[in-house]
Amino acid sequence: MAKIQMKNAIAELDGDEMTRVLWAVIKDKLLSPFVDLKTEYYDLGLKQRDDSDDKITYEAAAAIKRLGVGVKCATITSNAARVKEYNLKQLTPSPNGIIRSELDGTVFRKPIIVNNVKPAVASWKKPIIMGRHAYGDVYKNCEIEVKGAGKAELVFTYADGTEERKTIMEMKGPGILQGIHNTEKSIESFARCSFRYALDEKVSVWFATKDTISKTYDGKFKEIFQRIYDEEFKSEFEKAGLEYFYTLIDDAVARVMKCEGNILWCCKNYDGDVMSDMVASAFGSLSMMTSVLVSPNGAFEYEAAHGTVQKHYYRYMNGEKTSTNPVALIFAWTGALAKRAELDGTPELLDFAKKLEKATLDTIEDGIMTGDLKALANPAPKKVVNSWEFIDEIASRL
Ligand code: NAP
Ligand code: MG
Repeated sequence: MAKIQMKNAIAELDGDEMTRVLWAVIKDKLLSPFVDLKTEYYDLGLKQRDDSDDKITYEAAAAIKRLGVGVKCATITSNAARVKEYNLKQLTPSPNGIIRSELDGTVFRKPIIVNNVKPAVASWKKPIIMGRHAYGDVYKNCEIEVKGAGKAELVFTYADGTEERKTIMEMKGPGILQGIHNTEKSIESFARCSFRYALDEKVSVWFATKDTISKTYDGKFKEIFQRIYDEEFKSEFEKAGLEYFYTLIDDAVARVMKCEGNILWCCKNYDGDVMSDMVASAFGSLSMMTSVLVSPNGAFEYEAAHGTVQKHYYRYMNGEKTSTNPVALIFAWTGALAKRAELDGTPELLDFAKKLEKATLDTIEDGIMTGDLKALANPAPKKVVNSWEFIDEIASRL
């Protein structure tokens, strides 16, 4: 059989621990036998990032921007324990954080649905895609713990030296203060990425904030989303039979519990952090979730939503063939290959990506699955297999 050819390369970002092990098996068993893989390879293993003072991470981000498509394995974000474990020179920043800020992107997460793992919420029939603004708010805050009575003020000094000043609180005693910010530019690209992604996925957009309480801050998010929708997307949405729906965050939470799915739920940074974990676990698990970072300039980075599965890796290093679920990693590859195919106009590659996804879902729906799905599956699985056997089962269907 002649291998499927690729016109342009994708940026391939290798990672750490158990996901790095499975990455190689997926390429060997599910990709290379069928596709003449064209990738620019960047090794984002922790040691390589440390040795290069993170230069490799910036190069990988530049490659995603240049090529338009990247696929990323999970990576360790270093902490004190990792510095010791890997004998690192320094605490390196999160590679996902670096890539996110280089691409100025929004993260979209979508559950992978199979008919024998039912969502915990009975009304959810179709995926709920989460869109999380990945800039600012409480994640880039400034905090003070005050020791006694005094006046808390919010002061802004313009470039020309003029000031705006407001009293936050006349404090009668000790307490805590927090300052947060966001920028119009970042909120605008969050809105554009979201509307564009929803058109791609053919789903309606929900957006919610607490603008009744936070009239200026959350009010700005609401205003920008409405303006970008009206000016740039409304007619395309109407043509596609889709809608943009704004409501208060507490109303959105209540409505989501009763909706069918098939929506993109856009959230501010904190809401997205919390709600995407809830939605992921209610749909099954993080290993059955795709994640893509979309930049406003049209670059796409596909990854798994979970981490490096450290505990399984230590067991693997002790000789165990673990039953780690590779589905999100496989879907990171199929997402990247399908996007490459769409941008290059190569239908055979798109067809391959769809077939690999189908072979993966068919395997699970045939009752063959990894241990993490065992307790969730209904009916109970016919066979719980290790990752290598699972990948072989997919390959035989493919
Ligand atoms: P994790 O790797 O997501 O794993 C947490 C637990 O979730 C695992 O111990 C396992 O539970 C379960 N799990 C996750 N993915 C699974 C899969 N594919 N198949 C089966 N079970 C799975 O999170 P972590 O252990 O907190 O983090 C490990 C490392 O990953 C950290 O160094 C962190 O910095 C990094 N991380 C990277 C990314 C990224 O690159 N995108 C994201 C998050 C974390 P059981 O042990 O109960 O089986
Ligand atoms: Mg979270």
